[in-house]
Amino acid sequence: MGDIEDLAARIRVCTLCRLHEGRTRAVPGEGPRDAKLFLVGEAPGRHEDEVGRPFVGAAGKVLDAALVTAGLTRGDVFITNVVKCRPPENRRPRADEIAACRPYLVAQVHAVRPGALVALGDTAVTGLLGPAADLSTARGSLPRFEGIPVVATYHPAATLYNRGL
Ligand code: SF4
Repeated sequence: MGDIEDLAARIRVCTLCRLHEGRTRAVPGEGPRDAKLFLVGEAPGRHEDEVGRPFVGAAGKVLDAALVTAGLTRGDVFITNVVKCRPPENRRPRADEIAACRPYLVAQVHAVRPGALVALGDTAVTGLLGPAADLSTARGSLPRFEGIPVVATYHPAATLYNRGL
């Protein structure tokens, strides 16, 4: 499907699912094309939709703090979402939307070939591993996506609502 820049260009004009109707900007994702770590969230939120970049809102601050704790910066990781366009009212992406957008995610993983994937939340887990997968099971194991280990954890936004996470 092409390299990262080619994929981003296709995503920005994509109309494959209904989510393109309400978006301001598609959010392809960003990061070094040789990133060792590849993070996957759920979907762009309001701020991401406005600027076309991933994790720039409150959840992005949580993510940045977590990266610092891990000795990393944004420049070390590739970050994207399961769906690249903001769902209305920030609802969860539907199964058909995830399926429509999944070839982009798969192609991005193929282009970057990271050493590990990090699935941020339940939607990222099912988006990567399929509808039968779930966060609680994936957290207790180390599933693989095409041979690449998948570390499953909570979405940064979830920790804003539940500090216990
Ligand atoms: Fe295309 Fe994905 Fe946006 Fe749907 S969410 S319009 S499949 S880029």
